[in-house]
This record gives sequence, C-alpha cells and structure tokens, in this order.
Amino acid sequence: MPDMIVLMGPQGAGKGTQAEKLAVQLGVPIIATGDILRKLAEADSELGRQIRETQNDGRLVPDDVMAKIIRDRLGKGDCQRGCILDGFPRTIPQAKLLDELGTEQGFGVRAIIISVPRDMLLKRLSGRRTCPVCGTIYNIYTRPSKVDGVCDLDGGKLLTRSDDIPEAIEKRLALFDEMTKPLLDYYKGSRRLSEVDGTGEINEVFNRISSVVQRAAALPSEV
Ligand code: AMP
Repeated sequence: MPDMIVLMGPQGAGKGTQAEKLAVQLGVPIIATGDILRKLAEADSELGRQIRETQNDGRLVPDDVMAKIIRDRLGKGDCQRGCILDGFPRTIPQAKLLDELGTEQGFGVRAIIISVPRDMLLKRLSGRRTCPVCGTIYNIYTRPSKVDGVCDLDGGKLLTRSDDIPEAIEKRLALFDEMTKPLLDYYKGSRRLSEVDGTGEINEVFNRISSVVQRAAALPSEV
C-alpha cells in the first residue's frame, strides 16, 4: 500500500533536508503546507489577504481552509504513489481529515518524528549566522565561514537573527512540543508513529528514516 508519510520534527532537526532525500528515494512529492500557503498569500484575493494576516500573526490557518487546500493537492496526479507531508497535519481535526482522505484514496498514513536532544537543537540553532548582503546561512558549529564572522562570498559581516537567540529558540521549541504532543499521541495510539534519532551525520539519519519507511511499507495499515 502506498503511504502518505507525515514527517515531523522541531526546527533544527533537519526535517527539510531529510524530506528532500526521502522524496528522491521514494519518487514522491513533498507537500509543505507552509510553502503552499505562502504562495497563496501572494494572491490579490480575499483568501490571499486572510492567509497573509494569519501567517504574519503566527496563527494557524483555519482547518476548513486547510481542508480544501490539502484535498486539492492530494488529488493531483503526482501523489498517486504517495507523498511526504511537511507541516500538515498540525491539529487533530487535520489528522482525522488526512486519515479520511487516505482511506478514500487507498493510502496508509504514517508519522515519523525526528528527535534531537534539546541542548543539541539549541546549539544548532544558536550557531546560525546570516550574511546581510547575500543571505547565505552559515553555522559556527556545522558550516563555518572560512574567516570567523565574515561571509565567504562577499565579505559581509555575519549576523545572528533576533529570533536565533537562545531565549527565542527555547520559546519556539516549547511551542513546538506543546502543539505536537496531541498529534504524537494520536499516531502513537494507532501504532503509526516511529521515532527516529536525528543526531549524527545527515546520511546516518537518512538511513534510519529509510529503514523505518521500508519496514512500515511491509505492514498492513491500521487506522
Ligand atoms: P511552516 O512553513 O510550516 O512553518 O508554516 C508557516 C505558517 O503557515 C504557519 O505558521 C501557519 O500560519 C501556516 N500553516 C502551515 N501549515 C499549516 C497547517 N497545517 N495548518 C494551519 N496553518 C498552517
């Protein structure tokens, strides 16, 4: 049975990188609702205005709007062999809707959470430095510039974003835990949740995710 894979993880867990690798391996699209919404927000329409305001305030777009968006997207031809979902579901009604759509379309829904210890996330995120000239992102621990504090490409003086200071990061991570907990319980309750260790090299983490996906594909799906 082809699967819809819900990939979850806090900022700094490497979710985006892993989603891309998995999409290539499985030959399925990544459906990132944040990206779809940002695109819709550019439109000069009532829906565009609503989404802009909601995203700017950091609130969630209402479930009924999300339902329409996800239904449309999953109905596209490229999802026939499954997909990877990034940023959806974010609420229990959304998770239930996804199960319904999965049943309608003959897909199993499985969730993977990439776990990284809090202190390591803090280190990864607080090490981030951005060039104000070209926007290149460095990390003093994992991707340092050749000369400390200076952009390799244009010599710009690297900056720390105001939301990358430890207090702001702690806050974001706590919010993620709070919002994700009900979803983790939802998938755990129906034995569809796998936790993957997100520490170590990118390829190491990917091998863990890949073997979880292969094992899950061999099992019957139960909702
Ligand atoms: P993201 O890029 O996933 O961090 O999403 C950016 C913003 O888009 C969020 O802060 C929400 O305002 C909105 N958003 C993305 N996905 C959803 C979703 N599944 N439900 C409601 N709002 C969402």
